[in-house]
Amino acid sequence: MDSEKNGETGEKSDLLDVYYFRNLVKNRFFRPAVNLIFLFALLIIIYFGLSSEPDLRFRGGIPFATTMIWDLWHPLLAFTIILFGRLWCFACPIGASVDWTQSVFSFKRKYPEKYRNLWIAVILFLFIFAAERHLFMFTRNPPNTAYLLLSFTGLAMVMAVIFEKRSFCRYICPIGLVLGVFSMLSATELRCKSKKTCQDHNIKECIIGNEAGKPCPVGEFPQTMERNNYCIMCMECVKSCSKDNIRISPRLPGADLVKSVKTHLDEAYLVHGIIIMFLFVMGMERFEFRNVIINFVRSVAPFDTVMYRNFFVNYWRNMWAIIIFSLITLGAAGLMYLSTRISLPGKNARQKFIELSYAFIPLGLSVYLAENTFRLLKGLFFITETAGKFFGQVWEFAVNFDTIDQLQIILVFSGFIFTLWAGYLISKKLSNNEKDLKNSMIAVSAVAIVYLFIGMKILTLPIV
Ligand code: SF4
Ligand code: SF4
Repeated sequence: MDSEKNGETGEKSDLLDVYYFRNLVKNRFFRPAVNLIFLFALLIIIYFGLSSEPDLRFRGGIPFATTMIWDLWHPLLAFTIILFGRLWCFACPIGASVDWTQSVFSFKRKYPEKYRNLWIAVILFLFIFAAERHLFMFTRNPPNTAYLLLSFTGLAMVMAVIFEKRSFCRYICPIGLVLGVFSMLSATELRCKSKKTCQDHNIKECIIGNEAGKPCPVGEFPQTMERNNYCIMCMECVKSCSKDNIRISPRLPGADLVKSVKTHLDEAYLVHGIIIMFLFVMGMERFEFRNVIINFVRSVAPFDTVMYRNFFVNYWRNMWAIIIFSLITLGAAGLMYLSTRISLPGKNARQKFIELSYAFIPLGLSVYLAENTFRLLKGLFFITETAGKFFGQVWEFAVNFDTIDQLQIILVFSGFIFTLWAGYLISKKLSNNEKDLKNSMIAVSAVAIVYLFIGMKILTLPIV
């Protein structure tokens, strides 16, 4: 305990003590090799995406790009966060394209101070997933999926030319944003071994870089790192630190939720946005729920939706998709704000809302995983079927909706329990007395129960 206070991490185990792992991570060819493999995969996906019919319901559609991105890559990412946090960023070819571009040319301007927050990434994330089913139909539109990948790669490269470091990865990438927030729950962390060693080290090689490794591309400083959110696990500091003062340690999942001191409004908003938005998306997978929404959207149209079917499908319905997703995310964050205001009168409600919202990250992750369960099984079955065809065999499996339902309910309920637990630990840290603790818990529990109620109402409807 004393050693922690002094900035020493004591007996924490360190994966970098494993000789082969350490050698691999420090090898200067390892990361570029991984990046190149994923770049090759990205190019194949883009190629097949652009070669396909725009709508998979029509003949000639090639589902390869959509399956690889929406049914495999994205769900797998969601499931890997728990163990490895932002490890994907190590392999990401779009992130690597920033490094490659900057090795040729960059103006290296500082990213503007006023945009050093996550609001652009939050809006992009909510927009992409709100638009996914209605506006651009990414999951069943391979060319749009390819265009999305191309536009992110293009934007990352343009930003690499203008700004220094990985500004795109830190402030814009919506996937990095979600990985960052959920990596607070992950079971591993990269930190310095001893803060004292960092303090005493005159040349901060992790910041300025040296022959062995580059400067930290996202501007993190291991001595002051208190949570996983922004570290993209590039391992450059492992290479550059001549004091051998970096460790990668297993830990209790969720440690950052209680330990971290800095909290942000954009992250708090995102957490509520993810919960309500993905509950809604799971609702849209169920006929009864979907019918209520579609009938509502139809009923508010000021024209005959049968006669003007194309206009309804292309514009009216899509406009409502954006309105509904904006309203429900604002409503969810507003509900938490209200609950905090009522339960903790006289306190700084905005700040309390932000701090207590971090308790909802476990519920956010569980809803995110629940929504991705369906897709992951679909993706795995597609791969099995395709491999079967390759070997001249019939390896076909059907998605069992009852099993999916049960898995989703278990996941959401577990997230609810973890959120209550995190809420208790965060409230305990923030409260000066028993009364404050009780009131904070009332604020967290009231909102968590509303989410659970909505979740159970939706998840007990049959999937069709
Ligand atoms: S180079 Fe190593 S010891 Fe020096 S400040 Fe960075 S992490 Fe600490
Ligand atoms: S240099 Fe170190 S702290 Fe910075 S992003 Fe890479 S691994 Fe994380």
